[in-house]
Amino acid sequence: MGIYGVMGYPIGHSMSPIMHNREFEALGLSNHYAAFNVQPSQLKTAIEGVRALHIKGLNVTIPHKVAVMEYLDEIDDEAQLIGAVNTIKNEDGRLIGSNTDGQGYLRSLLPLLKQRELNRKKILVIGAGGASRAIVTSLARHGVEQLDITNRTVSKADKLVEHVKRFVPSTSAELSDAEKNLSNYDIIVNTTSVGMSPHINEVPINIDNVKEGAIVSDLIYNPLTTKFMQKARDKGAITDNGVGMFVYQGALSFEKWTGIEPSIERMTETVLKKLGG
Ligand code: NAP
Repeated sequence: MGIYGVMGYPIGHSMSPIMHNREFEALGLSNHYAAFNVQPSQLKTAIEGVRALHIKGLNVTIPHKVAVMEYLDEIDDEAQLIGAVNTIKNEDGRLIGSNTDGQGYLRSLLPLLKQRELNRKKILVIGAGGASRAIVTSLARHGVEQLDITNRTVSKADKLVEHVKRFVPSTSAELSDAEKNLSNYDIIVNTTSVGMSPHINEVPINIDNVKEGAIVSDLIYNPLTTKFMQKARDKGAITDNGVGMFVYQGALSFEKWTGIEPSIERMTETVLKKLGG
């Protein structure tokens, strides 16, 4: 019997417990995954608790992804580059941090591409917050032809561009300039919270200039189809919501903890059921 969980604040709406517990059950593993509501002032004590209670693995979410790093024994390369941890594995008392968010997005994106040709894609990422940083780091490490970043606060996009430029060509842009140049891009990703319920009529940028056949991803999964996705679809784009990224980041954590590859189909079904889709 192993105890796993997710640590965040607040944590009430997390879909991770139901997703992982159903997977443990389906695979005949007598593990349990819990939601831990940990106040920022209690983070250090909580990590000491993980060691004392032999909790085998954790997901870490807002607001602890960066702060938790100083309490861990080891942090893998990808998490160090992202500058945040979303997964902790307890290996005989050694706490090892990693980050599956960016790789989760990549895994969800690959089936939409014609074969594995990501290296030749021009990509625009809208937003420069935590999710953006994870995604652009993973895309840059994978290798793409061009990785441009636009954000309401352009100085944050500038910082991210500096971060990824050592791997791939990258520039930053004002939202209005990115809108004008949308037809340059094969993949456009919304990593902002604009359009999330209850503000479902908002869009992060005007998508009218999108190229037909381009992939337009939105990391939002509530609603399952954002207005941004709907408008892109109307212009002939292929769209994808945030369920794929959520499921794959969880699946990658699950695999790190147990060494077992979980069922993506079953995890997706669990999440969609929870979301009422
Ligand atoms: P974050 O660090 O707070 O970043 C928020 C981003 O949204 C920033 O770029 C911010 O721009 C932009 N933004 C917020 N309100 C805006 C507005 N009214 N107009 C224009 N831009 C606005 O948040 P995060 O953790 O990166 O999360 C961002 C989104 O990704 C959320 O919707 C979250 O649910 C989703 N997400 C999904 C997954 C998944 O697995 N599918 C995983 C992680 C996150 P400024 O810099 O100008 O403030």
